[in-house]
Amino acid sequence: MGGADRLRDYHGKRHFDRTAEPRGDGREAREGRDALPRFVVQIHDARRMHFDFRLQVGDVLKSWSVPKGPSDDPRDKRLAVPTEDHPLEYEEFEGVIPPGEYGGGTVIVWDHGTYEPLSHDRRGRPVDFAESLERGHATFRLHGRKLRGEYALTRFRGGDDGEEAWLLVRAAKGGSGGRGAPDPRRARSARTGRTLTQVAREGG
Ligand code: MN
Repeated sequence: MGGADRLRDYHGKRHFDRTAEPRGDGREAREGRDALPRFVVQIHDARRMHFDFRLQVGDVLKSWSVPKGPSDDPRDKRLAVPTEDHPLEYEEFEGVIPPGEYGGGTVIVWDHGTYEPLSHDRRGRPVDFAESLERGHATFRLHGRKLRGEYALTRFRGGDDGEEAWLLVRAAKGGSGGRGAPDPRRARSARTGRTLTQVAREGG
């Protein structure tokens, strides 16, 4: 996927005259040998409260809806349901999606930063990260303000037909530090320090 088609699903679900979410027709993926890809975790107070976990892969944010959010405990396997690719600009989105629109509700940026792709094959050789996601198992190390350490995303259901389901799990040997998802109603934005309630009151 590339070019204008890469965000077709994202554009198809939204009315940009009504939502302040980014169209995402501007930003190019950052180049450079040392530039690690980005990740963002948003808290989304929609019909059902959930966390949105997004990893930059090329020029899009690959996205999963994680009802309970990431855990820092390797024993907690967290359900992660894939959603449509989002534009890179979405990393900064915080605000209120109007009622009646797709994803209507309040969004805060709970955490963001960079990640190191760690995916490898069974012999321990590095493999292309996008390819590892297509195959259904990717490992990476998060460098966020809150989330730190090694995680894995693994598809356990679906693929060719039916809805996919994945698990987001902290690696047992991924270093220590960082913390898992908080009570979403008490959580504060990594960008602005605000809670969902404050953003809902103040808008974007
Ligand atoms: Mn969402």
